[in-house]
Amino acid sequence: MSKKVAGPEIEKLIQYLGRLPGLGPRSARKAALGLIKKREALMVPLAAAMTEAAEKILICETCGNVDTIQPCTICTDVRRDETMLVVVEEVGDLWALERASVMNARYHVLGGHLSPLDGIRPDDLNIANLIARVSGGGIKEVLLALNATVEGQSTAHYITEELEDMDVKITHLAHGVPVGGELDYLDEGTIAAAIKSRKEL
Ligand SMILES: [Zn+2]
Repeated sequence: MSKKVAGPEIEKLIQYLGRLPGLGPRSARKAALGLIKKREALMVPLAAAMTEAAEKILICETCGNVDTIQPCTICTDVRRDETMLVVVEEVGDLWALERASVMNARYHVLGGHLSPLDGIRPDDLNIANLIARVSGGGIKEVLLALNATVEGQSTAHYITEELEDMDVKITHLAHGVPVGGELDYLDEGTIAAAIKSRKEL
């Protein structure tokens, strides 16, 4: 056990920060110190923002996106093309595609990918809702913007088979997404190229 350098309140703060994705114990200590130094300007407003967000966060019942309104901002945006539905694994992927800003579509967030080894089956993902949305009509194209991983691609194949008999064009991302690549880590240019060169499955 390493020696403690501060009281329990600060130790707890460091511990929680260390659980954030991308932060190890070292960066967590750095972040904690940064917050402490900017107590009024950063720490207090951040704490308030976190409390408020934690209270108000909702999962959109239509698309699976996270937001503080129901249905979410994207589902209620009338300027978006209702005939184009982009299917993603996670909300982070939706944000990444929006950063590339080449599409003006609606989304559907699966909440992960199929993974028999981890016991993740179709029922564990937001797939039944997707099928219901597409069979409801009005959607002309479903773009499967899933990760170029084995799991992402087998999920794409599963969805393609499920939507096979419906009157909808199914496309997927083509050039630009490296094999094993996760959308959230790609730059906007790569994502834009992948969307523009999408192919029908
Ligand atoms: Zn939504």
